[in-house]
Amino acid sequence: MTTALAPGADLARNPKVRQWLADHRPVLLIDNEWVPAKSGKTFETINPTNGQVLSIAAEADRADVDEAVKAAGRAFTEGPWSKMGPGEKARILRTFAGLIEANVDELAELEALDNGMTLATAKAFISVAVESLYYFAGAAQQIFGQTAPSAPTNFNYVLREPIGVVGAITPWNAPICANIWKIAPILAAGNTMVLKPAEQTPLTALRLGELAIEAGLPAGVLNIVTGFGPGAGSAIAEHPQIDKVTFTGSVETGRSILHASTGNLKRITLELGGKSPNIVFPDADMSSAVATSLAGFATISGQVCVAGTRLFVQQDVKDEFVENLSTFAAGIKVGDPLDPETTMGPLASKEQFDRVTGYLDVGRAEGASVAVGGEVIGDQGYFVQPTVFDGVRNDMRIAQEEIFGPVVSVIPFSDEYDAVLQGNDTTYGLAAAVWTRDVSRAHTVARRIKAGTVWINTYLELDPTMPFGGYKQSGIGREFGANWYQHYTEEKSVFLKL
Ligand code: ADP
Ligand code: MG
Repeated sequence: MTTALAPGADLARNPKVRQWLADHRPVLLIDNEWVPAKSGKTFETINPTNGQVLSIAAEADRADVDEAVKAAGRAFTEGPWSKMGPGEKARILRTFAGLIEANVDELAELEALDNGMTLATAKAFISVAVESLYYFAGAAQQIFGQTAPSAPTNFNYVLREPIGVVGAITPWNAPICANIWKIAPILAAGNTMVLKPAEQTPLTALRLGELAIEAGLPAGVLNIVTGFGPGAGSAIAEHPQIDKVTFTGSVETGRSILHASTGNLKRITLELGGKSPNIVFPDADMSSAVATSLAGFATISGQVCVAGTRLFVQQDVKDEFVENLSTFAAGIKVGDPLDPETTMGPLASKEQFDRVTGYLDVGRAEGASVAVGGEVIGDQGYFVQPTVFDGVRNDMRIAQEEIFGPVVSVIPFSDEYDAVLQGNDTTYGLAAAVWTRDVSRAHTVARRIKAGTVWINTYLELDPTMPFGGYKQSGIGREFGANWYQHYTEEKSVFLKL
């Protein structure tokens, strides 16, 4: 390959990825056309492995969002999309899923370059994304209305209809998955959409857009506007012709999106942060608890909303647990995400690196002790060691605030009551786990914990058949599950006098 690549892109190994990066121009996807931002503005996306420019993206603002919304509106009211039956829509989604599968190596490398997750992790997430697309393709043909028990003089029924134009705003931590988890159900329910991927990781969303067109998705159904939160993001949240906004990201941004949505009373789904309790009782299968708890806080360098970052261990077994966990954590190979030996890549951005290293200082200042890790690695890119803080109290900042890095706070508890009390002492309520061989205790704790997802003797499992979302400030609404379509459709009551 002779094309000169940007210094962040030059780390790419796959010839197809190198070619894609060499050819890439800063464009938005509007009405199945690739167009620059009207303002001509662009921004850099950085490769977190070396901190260098990976590529340039178009910076959309209100004017571009407006065009995207118009295209989505036309596709919803006039376009071929609204005239297709669910079977035909399902076929396009399946073709799209197949194309993602066929391009998995290329997509995984692009994801690793833009986000910093390892190739293996990227592939695992892509396979989850593909599964979800197939699932929702099938589900598109399962959205039933109802026949009402009316008087003999009437025939009353309930229709389930798509809402209209949906705005989707997504984060940078697992971009392909986050984007497919919006695209799949939104389109399966028959809506059209405007997607704004996170400014830190815009590239794989654009590649997904290319594949969606190749799959036969009609113009205007999926529009992709890259750009920043206060620009393109808030334009989506405020737009009077967007009927619903679905957002995954921070609590602070979720709150401003909720405020912005009041102008036209948009339907809202918010998937926000967490500080999830992972509770280990002395009768647990300890080897499994240690290994899985590590994955629970270190997967994608801990940049996971459901990360188990408050690790409650019963006080009698706590020291031994911390020792074993630290040994495992020290064995994680942190480095270039494209190197197959690497088990943990860098944090996704400089902003995130500063945040996580800031919390490493906060933890020490609060009096917690570092059992393992606690340092940055190297002097280029955004690498930190997986870190176990011991001697943490649940009221410390490192136990209450979402760090979004490979940092866990180990907190002792005395008994079941204490574990639940401390576990629930948080403003969040996204996920939790309980480790025990006692069946009755497992189910009792699962009921008492205030969280949208509870794992028993496992962690990080998600399934499109299971509702996902948060209690308390972890969000509003649920994605997936048997009732998934309720959040992407409207109900219409039709009364007919016979
Ligand atoms: P983080 O702070 O970790 O980057 P955010 O919640 O700020 O997480 O970002 C998640 C997504 O929300 C990104 O796509 C970002 O551009 C977008 N975003 C940020 N601020 C706003 C806002 N005020 N309105 C709409 N979207 C926003
Ligand atoms: Mg932000």
